Amino acid sequence: MNYLNDLAADIEGWKRDGRYRTIKVWESGSDTWMNLNGRKILQMSSNNYLGLTHHPKLKQAAIAAIEKYGVGSGSVRTITGTLDIHEQLELELAAFKGTEAALVFQSGFTTNQGALSSILGADDVVISDELNHASIIDGIRLTKASRRIFAHKDMNQLEAVLKETQKHRKRVVVTDGVFSMDGDIAPLPEIVQLAEAYDAIVYVDDAHASGVLGKNGKGSTDHFGLHGRVHIQIGTLSKAIGAVGGYVAGAQLLKEHLIHTARPFLFSTSQPPAVAATCLAAIQVLRDSGDLVTKLWENANGFRSELKGLGFDTGASETPIIPIIIGDPALTMRFSDRLLEEGVFAQGIVYPTVAMDKGRVRLIVTAQHTSEDLAFALNSLQKVGREFGLL
Ligand code: PMP
Repeated sequence: MNYLNDLAADIEGWKRDGRYRTIKVWESGSDTWMNLNGRKILQMSSNNYLGLTHHPKLKQAAIAAIEKYGVGSGSVRTITGTLDIHEQLELELAAFKGTEAALVFQSGFTTNQGALSSILGADDVVISDELNHASIIDGIRLTKASRRIFAHKDMNQLEAVLKETQKHRKRVVVTDGVFSMDGDIAPLPEIVQLAEAYDAIVYVDDAHASGVLGKNGKGSTDHFGLHGRVHIQIGTLSKAIGAVGGYVAGAQLLKEHLIHTARPFLFSTSQPPAVAATCLAAIQVLRDSGDLVTKLWENANGFRSELKGLGFDTGASETPIIPIIIGDPALTMRFSDRLLEEGVFAQGIVYPTVAMDKGRVRLIVTAQHTSEDLAFALNSLQKVGREFGLL
C-alpha cells in the first residue's frame, strides 16, 4: 500500500474545507512590522506581547551567554545540562511568581506534558475546562488518571464533578489562566473556592497570562490576589517573555518530584545557555518595571473598544487576545488573506482548533504597537469588514 495516497486524501479534504494552510516565511524577526515577500506587513498575530524579542538587555544577555557558555547545553538537565544560569532563572522565576520553587522546561508544551503526567496517577481524577490548550489535553492523555471535562468556565458543572469524584485519591482542576483562542480570563477565585471546599488541587496554565496579567505581569494568581491558594502555576517563556521555554512554579517538593519523574525534563536536552540567559534578563526587566505591561493594557483595551464600536464581534475577549468572530472556515481564511493584501497580518483560526462555526481571525495587540499602527489596523479591518458584509 502506498501510504502517501492516504496522506494525499487527507490534504485534498482540507483543501476542499478551506482548512489547508500555507506557512508564511517571514524575512525579518518578530516585531510590529515584519517583512513578507518583500513587503512590510503590520503584525497583529504575534505572542510577543511586550516586544521583548528586541529588548537590548535581553540581546546583550544572550550574546554574553554564548560567549561564556557556547551555544548548546550538551545534555539533559540531570547530566551536564544544568548550568548556573538555569538555576538562577529558576530562583528568579520563583521569586517573581511568589512560590517556593520553579522548574524550567524546554517549552510550555513539554511543561504541561511533564507536569500533568508526573502528578497524576491511576487513582486520581483530572477535571479540565473544555477550552484548555492542546498541550494540557495531550498531557492528560499521557496519564492513567480518570478524565472529566467541564463546560467552559461553568462553575456549576465543576462543582457537580467535584462532588461526584470524591472517591478519587487526588482531584486536580486544570484551567488556562487566559484562554488562547477567545482571550477571556478563567474565573480563578471561584475555581479556588470550589477546590478548597472539595479538597482539590488547582493547576493553572498561565501561558498567555505571564507578562500580561497581574502586577508587572506576574500572572493570574497575582491578578486575583490568590497567592498561596493556587498549587501549580505553569508559565511559558515563549510569549511575553520573548524567547522559548516553560516552567512550573509551586512547592519545593513538587519541584523535587518533577525532577525525578517529568519525562521531558529527564529525557530531552535543556534550554541552550543563550535562551536561559535571555529569559533571566526578561524576568529581571519585568520585575523592575511594569511600564510595558501598563502600555500593553492601554493598547489592548483601546483597540478592543474601537473594534466593538465599528460593529465587530470580539467574542468574550477581555485581554490583548482579541478575536473577530467570522464563522465559516473558508470565509475566515479569505478574510485573513484579504487583510494581508491590505498590509495587516491576522491569523485565521478555524476548525479543528475552534468549533466549525466559530472561525475567527485572532488579533493580538502588543505594547509595541503605536497609535498609528493600531489606526492602520482598524482602517484595514473596517475596509475588509465592509467588503465581507460583517459591518
Ligand atoms: N499553554 C497554552 C495555554 C498555550 O497557549 C501555549 C502556546 N500556544 C502553550 C501552553 C505552549 O507553549 P509553548 O509555545 O511555549 O510550547
